Amino acid sequence: APISIVSINDGDARSEDDTSEDQISPAEKSLLQKIIRKGLVETTKDPEIQRKDPQSPLYSVKSFEALHLKPALLQGVYGMGFNAPSRIQETALPTLLADPPQNMIAQSQSGTGKTAAFVLAMLSRVDTTKDYPQVLCLSPTYELAIQTGEVAAKMSRFCPEIKIKYAVRGEEISRGSKITEHIIIGTPGKVLDWGQKFKFFDLSKISVFVLDEADVMIATQGHQDQCIRIHKLLPRTCQMMFFSATYEPEVMNFAEIIVSNPIIIKLLRQQESLDNIKQYYIKCKNVDEKYTAITNIYGVITIGQAIIFCHTKKTASWLAEKMTRDGHAVAILSGDLTVEQRISVLDRFRAGLEKVLITTNVLARGIDVEQVTIVVNFDLPMDQKRQADCETYLHRIGRTGRFGKSGIAINLIDSPHAMQLCKDIENHFGKKIHYLDAEDADEIE
Ligand code: ADP
Repeated sequence: APISIVSINDGDARSEDDTSEDQISPAEKSLLQKIIRKGLVETTKDPEIQRKDPQSPLYSVKSFEALHLKPALLQGVYGMGFNAPSRIQETALPTLLADPPQNMIAQSQSGTGKTAAFVLAMLSRVDTTKDYPQVLCLSPTYELAIQTGEVAAKMSRFCPEIKIKYAVRGEEISRGSKITEHIIIGTPGKVLDWGQKFKFFDLSKISVFVLDEADVMIATQGHQDQCIRIHKLLPRTCQMMFFSATYEPEVMNFAEIIVSNPIIIKLLRQQESLDNIKQYYIKCKNVDEKYTAITNIYGVITIGQAIIFCHTKKTASWLAEKMTRDGHAVAILSGDLTVEQRISVLDRFRAGLEKVLITTNVLARGIDVEQVTIVVNFDLPMDQKRQADCETYLHRIGRTGRFGKSGIAINLIDSPHAMQLCKDIENHFGKKIHYLDAEDADEIE
């Protein structure tokens, strides 16, 4: 009988459960991406613009001054360290701020400046002489609503007269009272309760409606219907702003219900590439040698940080424990943690408190932490069929930056199967993965 070649050293994919345990929801993925990102995702692409009404003029700005914002708001923008509008903001902001108001659908990958754009529009549309909600922003989850609220709070730092209210779980209002804040940021269920059921505010007085993370919204059961119910209670004159990181047909169908006669701005995703990445593999006899290779690498990271990817939670926590016991400061991010714990782990790592982050596939996307110079594949990424998962490899290691952002990727190989995966990845991308002597980790500097 043919013997299937499965190396015993191949500590990953021991069982199906082990490989699928770190699935996270789209909402959580989006949140983690926000937390770990430090700045704008650079993009060289030009946005594509569509509009039904060719009569409406279309502007683009190269500076925030050109938007004629209230001085205190402009001060807030600069206070956040924004010097010039991002790609998507150049075209979105003039339209979002135009009079008469125009509806917009904007789609661009996470990190391109959508949130900052609509928050600025929300803040500049507020009339502080009126003490009732005029701006309503819907987010898919509690955490995402808080993230948006924090951006709004920062940007309006010099406009203390603008008041913001969260409509999320945990927030309670006594029966019969009215909300006096100008901006409501919340989740669909709570907003519907507050607006329709308890009449804490009047949905028919909302003049700006923002639907953030529409793609995540429709991935959450029941949210789409709630959004549509809220939308029905808004006045016809209300300005609609619809944002999404992806552009699937379901998202666009949803957009059509919410937004009439929109200007559509699409910014294509910047492709990740391996161009500035030096790729290596190290041969190890077993998992202990893998560990030794890791500690050698750890020894040479004097600047920057490393992320180590493991195939399973088990391996990840084993590695983290062992390194910690040996006196290394490492952080671990796995599916076991609560959302709050994940945020705190990522915050600490981003702040540089730990030099090494050990994780599973949870972080395959959105790990463009600038200071991450080394990515280690403790296990090579593979799919359910144990074939090389080239897409995940690219997400782990590739960069989208235009300039300089170089990096190092190290693959630890401890079985013929792992070697095969490595070869397949090399062939797939047509980029050499160089042999590195485990004893000689200094070479990588
Ligand atoms: P998105 O909503 O598309 O994910 P964000 O608005 O959250 O993008 O922006 C991503 C990151 O870039 C944030 O850290 C934000 O503070 C920053 N950012 C946004 N706009 C600018 C800008 N014009 N200049 C510099 N940084 C910006």
